[in-house]
Amino acid sequence: MNDSRPDGLRKKGRVAVIGSGPAGMATALSVAQSGHEVQIFERYREARPAGNILNLWPPPLKALRAMGVDTDDLGAPCHVQFRNLKGKVRVDVKLAPEVQEEYHGSFIGLLRPDLYERMLAAVPPGVLQFNRNVTGFSQDERSVKLSFDDGGTEDFDVLIGADGIDSLVRRTLWGDEPKREHRLHIFGGYTFASPPGAEAGQAVLTHSRTVQGSWTAIRSKGRDGFQWWVLEATDPDAPAPADAHAAATQLAQGFPVPLGDLIAGTDPANVQRWILRDRPALPQWSKGRATLVGDAAHPTSPYAAYGAGMAIEDGFFVGRALRGIDLTDAAAVGNALQTYEDPRKPHTAQQVKLAWMNGKIFHHTPAPLRPVRDFVMDRTPFLQKVVGDASPGEIMKQLALIDEQL
Ligand SMILES: Cc1cc2nc3c(=O)[nH]c(=O)nc-3n(C[C@H](O)[C@H](O)[C@H](O)COP(=O)(O)OP(=O)(O)OC[C@H]3O[C@@H](n4cnc5c(N)ncnc54)[C@H](O)[C@@H]3O)c2cc1C
Repeated sequence: MNDSRPDGLRKKGRVAVIGSGPAGMATALSVAQSGHEVQIFERYREARPAGNILNLWPPPLKALRAMGVDTDDLGAPCHVQFRNLKGKVRVDVKLAPEVQEEYHGSFIGLLRPDLYERMLAAVPPGVLQFNRNVTGFSQDERSVKLSFDDGGTEDFDVLIGADGIDSLVRRTLWGDEPKREHRLHIFGGYTFASPPGAEAGQAVLTHSRTVQGSWTAIRSKGRDGFQWWVLEATDPDAPAPADAHAAATQLAQGFPVPLGDLIAGTDPANVQRWILRDRPALPQWSKGRATLVGDAAHPTSPYAAYGAGMAIEDGFFVGRALRGIDLTDAAAVGNALQTYEDPRKPHTAQQVKLAWMNGKIFHHTPAPLRPVRDFVMDRTPFLQKVVGDASPGEIMKQLALIDEQL
């Protein structure tokens, strides 16, 4: 029979996505644009944002727009700087002028539930299935069979694991390995108070000898505010502080304004704490008809402020890689998934490594070496080179790769 549909729609197949975080939603949006049928299976009864505070760099914003997500006024554009306790600028993240002009700064500060709301609004009806906990899967040449905790099974042509740092898909494909402990914890929160020193359009990441204390402008549903976080070394097995707000207040002592005032102005209900963990990079993500996106592929320390961003980019690129592919053809699927992961691996591995290294340098340098470290940070271009100049380079590369797929 002659198939007269446009090229991208001609070879329609069925794709299953596990997880409705940023990676899963982006994947579903991009796969749907590629003309395939897609289903997201989420174990919870809703798409539950894992936390409140967030920053997004221009590449995920560009990918979101390309996938039909409304990003207008989603957050506050910020110019990003690293400073020392006295306010000396150690890093100035300067993107190319045309990128700064288009995105009004380096990244946007936003609240995570707002991102979820915008992405969910773009997901076509019938794609998301809640209360569907996937308990396992198997695959052969012809299909992938998913098993659910209610005893049911369903067959698909392709499986995409967007199921986070404890991914069942990753474990099934590549085995289980312990997570890597960063021996760090972070307290974060947000407020719509605007104390003296809290400037719109700014993101300021300040390091003392042992603590990072940072804040950025945010915008949420037309309201301007600020998010903040404080981060230090910890024993991940020690009990969590009983009062996260009090612990954050304590850590911010000695930091320049407005950090302490932002924390004081934050409703304790809006303060959260996380232990930082990741996993070392996998040499291969895809096997047969299954692959990984987001934290399932490359869980990343928040030091990168890029985990959700990379998850969105992954979703965009995997959907594009499946465009026009006959999903009944195992070899074609294998090639498409490899085409997706090959350029993603070096980019994501670099961000994971940079985040891990930054955590080590700023929080695990032995005490006698800290003055030397801070001398290097303050008096040499070292940090500007590895963070301030390298990040814009990666961002430009990702923007160009997204452009190629538009
Ligand atoms: C404190 C903190 C700050 C951060 N700040 C930033 C930032 O500023 N910018 C940034 O880009 N990133 C940031 N990140 C990282 C970012 O949060 C993650 O990288 C991102 O959430 C990963 O998205 P994901 O969709 O891959 O996974 P997740 O968000 O973990 O989603 C996985 C989904 O899969 C579902 N699931 C799991 N198993 C199953 C199953 N068996 N069956 C069905 N469903 C299942 C889960 O319920 C969940 O909904 C931060 C992280 C932290 C902790």
